[in-house]
Amino acid sequence: MTLNWDWTGWALWSTSHFWSVTLTVLIIVGILEVFREAQPLLLPVWQRWSAHVFLTILIQLCLNPLRAISGHALAAWATSHQIGLFSLTSLPLGIRCILGILLLDLIHYASHFLYHHSSWLWSFHSIHHNDEDFDWSTGYRFHISESLVTLMIESIGVLIIGLPPESILLFVLLISIQNLVSHADFILPTPLARWLDCIWISPNLHRLHHSDQIPHQQSNYGILLSLWDRLFGTLTPATPSTLVSIRVGLTETHPHPINNPLRLLALPFLRHSHPDPNPDQRPYPQPDSQTS
Ligand SMILES: [Zn+2]
Repeated sequence: MTLNWDWTGWALWSTSHFWSVTLTVLIIVGILEVFREAQPLLLPVWQRWSAHVFLTILIQLCLNPLRAISGHALAAWATSHQIGLFSLTSLPLGIRCILGILLLDLIHYASHFLYHHSSWLWSFHSIHHNDEDFDWSTGYRFHISESLVTLMIESIGVLIIGLPPESILLFVLLISIQNLVSHADFILPTPLARWLDCIWISPNLHRLHHSDQIPHQQSNYGILLSLWDRLFGTLTPATPSTLVSIRVGLTETHPHPINNPLRLLALPFLRHSHPDPNPDQRPYPQPDSQTS
């Protein structure tokens, strides 16, 4: 890797090619899901996909105006006004971009951890986890409130650190690709996964995070890199035997899967409609009774 890389050029390329790259990855993931499907889907895809499309369009319509003044634009403003920790240094752009992407990944790891350990935040994030199936579209099943909170946390991080706008643009493309790949309904072969899991949140590691078992859910919080899970002791290896034995989703919604988008949006605001993230208070099997 060279620090003389044209970071600005690649950042602009990542923006102009965002949709073509994302679509290409979607096609590859789709082909892999057809030929290497991990587990047969339980529900008709149209039921889930239509809900996920609805939630995604809502997020795009409502949050795009906010995104226009956050993310890249906010980072450009902060950099030009010498705001943030990076402005106190004379680090070259290449170092700031690499550190910026790493720190953005850490911010997303930390916020994902919080989503699983705060009752209020879990009420939103549980919408992502109560999908009874796991395929690329699960990556688009988010409550709009979660997307808003994540945007706010990311914006605060951008201002505190003074991230270069190039790192934001590159990170947006990376997580768009990773969102599709990590939710893909296929399992990487063990020898390959063993190596890749050392540095990357593979589909194997993320599938385990979507297990209906609490110890699995409360691990593997990383978005891009497994580094943070290793560092903070939240990594659970995804062994082949575990991956074939788990069921994805939430135990409390197994009997009555929810895929009506309006009901999904209302769920966090309905009393007793979502579980407490505290394992002691959730009607889940305790670790002693795990099968994996
Ligand atoms: Zn989660």
